[in-house]
Parts: sequence; C-alpha cells; structure tokens
Amino acid sequence: MTRFIFVTGGVVSSLGKGITTAAIAVMLEKRGLKVSIQKLDPYINVDPGTMSPFEHGEVYVTEDGYEADLDLGHYERFSQASIGRHSNATTGSIYSEVIRKERAGDYLGQTVQVIPHITDAIQDAITKGAAPGTDVAIIEIGGTAGDIESLPFLEAIRQFGLRAPKGSTMYVHLTLLPYLAASGEMKTKPTQQSVGKLREIGIQPDVLVCRCEQPMTESMRRKISLFCNVRPEDVIQEQDVETTIYEVPLDLVREGLDRAVVEHLGLDNDAPIDMSDWEDLRGRWANPECEIEIAVVGKYIELHDAYKSIYEALAHGGAAHKTKVRFRKIAAEDCADGDVAAMLDGVSGLLVPGGFGERGLEGKIRALRWARENQVPAFGICFGMQAMALEYGRHVAGLEDANTTEVDPTCKSPLIHLIESQENIDDKGGTMRLGAYACRIIEGTRSAEIYGRDLVFERHRHRWEFNNDFREQLEKAGLTCAGIHEKEDLVEVVELTDSPFYIGVQYHPEFKSKPLTPHPLFEAFIGAALSFASGNTAATTSEVEAR
Ligand code: GLN
Repeated sequence: MTRFIFVTGGVVSSLGKGITTAAIAVMLEKRGLKVSIQKLDPYINVDPGTMSPFEHGEVYVTEDGYEADLDLGHYERFSQASIGRHSNATTGSIYSEVIRKERAGDYLGQTVQVIPHITDAIQDAITKGAAPGTDVAIIEIGGTAGDIESLPFLEAIRQFGLRAPKGSTMYVHLTLLPYLAASGEMKTKPTQQSVGKLREIGIQPDVLVCRCEQPMTESMRRKISLFCNVRPEDVIQEQDVETTIYEVPLDLVREGLDRAVVEHLGLDNDAPIDMSDWEDLRGRWANPECEIEIAVVGKYIELHDAYKSIYEALAHGGAAHKTKVRFRKIAAEDCADGDVAAMLDGVSGLLVPGGFGERGLEGKIRALRWARENQVPAFGICFGMQAMALEYGRHVAGLEDANTTEVDPTCKSPLIHLIESQENIDDKGGTMRLGAYACRIIEGTRSAEIYGRDLVFERHRHRWEFNNDFREQLEKAGLTCAGIHEKEDLVEVVELTDSPFYIGVQYHPEFKSKPLTPHPLFEAFIGAALSFASGNTAATTSEVEAR
C-alpha cells in the first residue's frame, strides 16, 4: 500500500516548503522506503518553462525533459526519488486535460465543474505521480492556505484522504512563528489562523512544522497544540539554519518529525535512522579550511533563485574541497562597457551561466576573454558555452564577426546557429532541446580526465548549437571540441585542453549535482579555482606560453 503525505504552507510564501518536503523524503529513504515526491502548483501556466527567471526563479530541467519548478531541484538534490514530468502538475496542466476530455465528449453530456471534475483530475495526477512500488508519496501543494487559486488543490487532497484507506494519508502544515522585536516574543496567531483556513476546508493537519528564528518555548508549543488541535509532540520546530539548507533534515529528525511521520503512517520500522553522511556534510560545510570567490556573470543576477542550481552546485563542489565558495554576482550587461578587469579582480574563477537573448551577451564575451587571457579558471554553461566559442572565434580564430543567429540572424559567421529540428517552431512552451542526451567525451581531453568516463548523459535546455562549419577552424586555433552528441554530430563540450579549467558545456551539469555527490565538473572547477587562488597555475603557464 502506498502512503501519502500532503505538505501545505501557511502565513507567508517562501517558508522553505520545498526543502522541508525534500527533508521528509530523506528521513523516509533512510528507513529503506521508496519515496516519490510531487509538486502541485496553482498557477495557470501549463509548466513553468515559459516564465521569466525574474518571475519564478530558475526553470529546472528533469532527465525526461520536463521544464519544472525549482523545487523539483531540491527534491533531486536531497533525495533519490525519481523526478520527472509526473512529479509536477499545475492548474494549467489539469485544466488542459479536463478541457481536452470535454472536447472529446468523454464526459458524456455532464456539466463539467471544478468539483468533481477538476478535483478528480488532480487526484488522478497525484496517483500517477507515485511511481509503481512507491512506499510513501509526498505531495507539496504550492501557494499558501487561503489563496483563491489553491482551493481546488486543497479540496482535492481533502477528498483524497477521505477515499484512501484509513491511516494511509497524513497532512503536514508548514507555518511561521514571527518574532516581534518590539515585544521580544514570537507570535502564534498567524499559525492559528492559517490552520483555521485549512480546517474550514475540512483538513485537520496531523503535524505542524513551525518556522522560527528563535527556539519555540514549551508554553508556546502547548498553546499552538491547543488552538490548532494538534498533539504537542506533533508541533515541530524548524528553526533557521546556521550554515546550509542541508542541515534541515538533521534538524527536523532531531526535533521529532521523523518520529511523527512514522507514528501517523503506522510505519513499522521505528528504529533511529543513521544520518551520518549528512552529519559529515554538515561538518565539512560548517568548518571550511579555505574560502574562495567565484564570479558569476549573468543576465538575471539580481535574483539568487534565477541561478539556484548553479549556486548550489558550486557550493557542493566547494564542500568536496572543504572550501566555502563566495559568489561575486556581476550583471553581464555591466561587463559590456565597464572595466572588466576591475570588476573581476581577485576572483579565483569565472562561471558564465545560461541565458537567452541579446542583453548581456557582449558582457559575457568580455568577461570570458579576460579569464582566458589571465588563465583564470572559467566555466561556461549553455549560453555561457556559446559565448566561450564566440569569444575564441572572434579573438583567436580570426572570425571577428562571429555571432549567434539568436542575436544576429544574418551575421556573416554564424558560429552558433539553429539546428534543423529547431527551425519553424512557433510554440515556445516545451519545444526546446530538452532533457538528457548522450555525450561522448573525447579521449585525451581535460573533460575526459575530469569525468573519468567516455559517455555521459547530461540535461539540455536550448535551441541553438555550435555550427560544425566552423569546427575545424576553431580546433586549429586551439579550442578543442571535447564532447560530441554522436547521433546528430553536435558539439556539446569545448575546452582549452592545456588549461586547468577552461570548459564550456552546452548542457546543464548543475541539475545533476547533489551535496553528497557533487558533479565532477563543479568539483574540478572549484579544485582549479583553489589552485589558482594559491598561485599554483604551473600546469598551465608553460603550456599556454608554448602555444
Ligand atoms: N539561448 C541559448 C539557446 O537557446 C542558450 C539557452 C540556455 O542558456 N539555456 O541555445
């Protein structure tokens, strides 16, 4: 029998519901249970792929090519759950399906309504979201209790609990205990009110997870318990973490969330779980031996969430080296005409992330040129890799007018161009080259040395590609094509082989990095940045001079 945990949020958004959800998955997996995780989002977009990063943070991409909410990134980083398009449903995707069935006449003359048709479709999505063999399915409901648009989702999970076998479902509600400096105390009223909102709909939470800055006192716990109708031991404190979000599973186990879940779902294995790998990670994170600064030159730099997985992957690479990574976030546009050397002065590495459109491209190219000429480790991802190729084309290979046709459709040297399968596509949603593709890593390259494998599968989200008409010219000038998608002969990795780290990848390795198993490229990039910081660039200097 599959058990279901529904996670809702109250009081305010951005409480870290995604991380709490992922932390519950960690605890259950430690018991040897097979877990699935799903996010239900109340917005009308069919998926978040068409949203600007400023609107909703980064668009995360799953192995099966689904453009997803960034919370799915948390799920994958924390847990072993298999995450894909089945792991997300939105108001838009639910309505599309119901309207499709209505047009097909599948409702046999009925009036199609929110209840039961939309709520039934949501419940079908929940059932489908739990992969076969799942012991526990965790479902996070986006939005905040009391939102108009969340109502059908809350109604659907209430009905789900009513229909499911007794004891097989539970409701976890995440709330905030705000601290009022003026009175020097934390307040429980917003929590009471948000639980009230859930109870109006007919959902009685089994467990309350209370986000707070200060520890929760016993009397506060008893008060919340009494007013919210939740046992005192099921009122769990989730205090702000000190160093990293990866402490959250440890904290929540200590505060009893693991015990509460096991009790509510009647799981037989109630022995304590072994969290030593997470303890070890916390130790490395909390006591770094070094600290370095990496520049991230991007278009959406103002918003941390816009490059969420990149910052996480850099930090994972850092933790592997017991190193704290600081980010110098630089708006790419500012690099276009500003003093790049001054802006980048003192950093130990440069990362240029993905992006779309003209704004920022010239700045990225200038930053990359500075890094290459100063032998500073550089990592280009997606648009960053394309910028790397353009920079090398323009300044080393003699293609002064090299460009991408994304920015200049009629340029004389279209070094980055649209592949045939991307031509004549009108719809924007879900039509890019998406998801995992095979990439052959060429023997003898720096990339091969780092990966230690000759075939990798990495995730893509782009339309444009390196133009093979210029491959020979670029290679002759010294830029190695180190990774190829053989089926379509696409260049997916470029590098300067004699450099400790000057690598551009057309794909997004950041989506596959986890705190306990950092992505090899990020680990190597931080390693190279550390060597650079300590002045140990010996491997490069002689070889670069020889060139
Ligand atoms: N705009 C580029 C393309 O579509 C790169 C996309 C990206 O960086 N994700 O090819």
